[in-house]
Amino acid sequence: MEIVIATSNDHKVKEYQEMVKGLNIKFLSLNDINFHNEIIENGQTFEENSLIKALAIKDYTTLPIIADDSGIEIEALGEHFPGIYTHRYAINNGGQEKTNEMLVKTCPNSKAMFTCVITLVNLIDIPLVFKGEFKGRISDKIVTGNGFGYDPIFIPDGLNEPVSTLKDEEKNAISHRGIAFNKLINYLKSSNLI
Ligand code: IMP
Repeated sequence: MEIVIATSNDHKVKEYQEMVKGLNIKFLSLNDINFHNEIIENGQTFEENSLIKALAIKDYTTLPIIADDSGIEIEALGEHFPGIYTHRYAINNGGQEKTNEMLVKTCPNSKAMFTCVITLVNLIDIPLVFKGEFKGRISDKIVTGNGFGYDPIFIPDGLNEPVSTLKDEEKNAISHRGIAFNKLINYLKSSNLI
C-alpha cells in the first residue's frame, strides 16, 4: 500500500519509516507528488491543523494521505502552551537549542505532555483521526543524543532520562506519534488493507 505523508520534517519521516518496517507500506513524500505549496495552519487544535494539512493535499493525489500535527504542552507555561504553537515557540526563543537551555532553567520538573494527531484522508469518504499522548516532565539538564526537538529535555513518566537516550524503536513504543500511528496501523489491518 502506498501512502503520502504530509511532512517536510526528515526526523518525522524517519520515525514513520522505522514504524512500518516489515509492513507492506511505502511512504511517498510531498516532493514525490509534486506538492510544493505553503500550507497555512491556522487551526486552534492539533486536530484542526492536521485536517487542514491533509485537505490541502487531497486533490493532488488519489493515494491515501496522512497528515500529522504534534506539539508539547508544559504545565509551568500555562494551559495548553505552547501546544499548537510548539514549532514557532522554539523559533521565537532563538531556536531549539536555546529554547531547551531556557526551559531546563525556568521549568525543571514541570509536568509536560506531547500530543500527536494523525488524519487520514482519501481512503474512505470521511477523514479518519488517530491521536496519541505522551506524558512526562521537563528535565533539569539537557542530554543530547537521539531524536529531535524537545527530546533532550523531556523525561517520560516512569523513566529517569530524557527521550534523547532512547533508541528509535524504544521511543516509538511509547511516544505520542508511535501511539497514534499504531492506532492507524490497527485500523488498516482490521480493514484488510495491509
Ligand atoms: P509539527 O507537528 O511539525 O507542527 O511539530 C511541532 C513541534 O513539536 C516540532 O517542531 C517539535 O519541536 C515538537 N515535537 C513534536 N514531536 C516531537 C517529538 O517526538 N520529540 C520532540 N519534539 C517534538
